[in-house]
Amino acid sequence: MRYMRVRRPWWPYLSWAVMVFLCLVVGLGYQEQMRTATTQVVGGRVVVIDPGHGQPDPGSIGVSGALEKDIVLAIAVYVRELLECRGVVVHMTRSGDYDLAKPATEGLAARKREDLAARVALVNELAPDMLISIHANAFPSARWSGAQTFYPKGCALSHSLAVSMQTQLSRITGRTQRQASSQQDLVILRDVQVPATVVEVGFLSNPQEEALLKQDEYQQRVAWAIYAGIVQYVNDLSLPVHHKEDTS
Ligand SMILES: [Zn+2]
Repeated sequence: MRYMRVRRPWWPYLSWAVMVFLCLVVGLGYQEQMRTATTQVVGGRVVVIDPGHGQPDPGSIGVSGALEKDIVLAIAVYVRELLECRGVVVHMTRSGDYDLAKPATEGLAARKREDLAARVALVNELAPDMLISIHANAFPSARWSGAQTFYPKGCALSHSLAVSMQTQLSRITGRTQRQASSQQDLVILRDVQVPATVVEVGFLSNPQEEALLKQDEYQQRVAWAIYAGIVQYVNDLSLPVHHKEDTS
């Protein structure tokens, strides 16, 4: 018996091809729109990133020896890259392993006091749209984990910034149910005159979280969450671009 070869019509394939093409065009257009929208939201802002501590102050020390000062600097550099790509003017309080105390000042406690005062003075001088101070936590017990943000009591903008940042840290790291919390004892939050948050990126006293925080991939993930928190904060408030008045 001879089988008849059935010729299938070609036009249904054309309609599929057209549909795939249209999806690609719409998808790429949407992506471009989102990219442009994000750039417009944060572009032109001025942000100070403050990686905590620095030689000779290591900050918290992890259970396997990771140093807070190294981890927060690595994350801060990633945040800077993300922001600068979108036209944000970024200042870092430090971009290497050093503190801001005067070279002649001796004693760790005295250096830490001077270092913090210098950071506060720098932020108030720069008068940015916001300050993001990056730290890592450590407790005597290993059981605690999860990133958390802090803000000074009584400052609505700082509260919004910390809540936005906490939302994005929860969403993007998937490792924290913590809430943004007010904190009166942190000098950097108490004394700066701009919207500010301290981001504790996790607990170095928790072995699992310490191992994550040492990984380049996880550092980039945390940086992305911090960046997303900044975008959400600016977007939610529809803040006008703020610049320090030229007093020269
Ligand atoms: Zn710290």
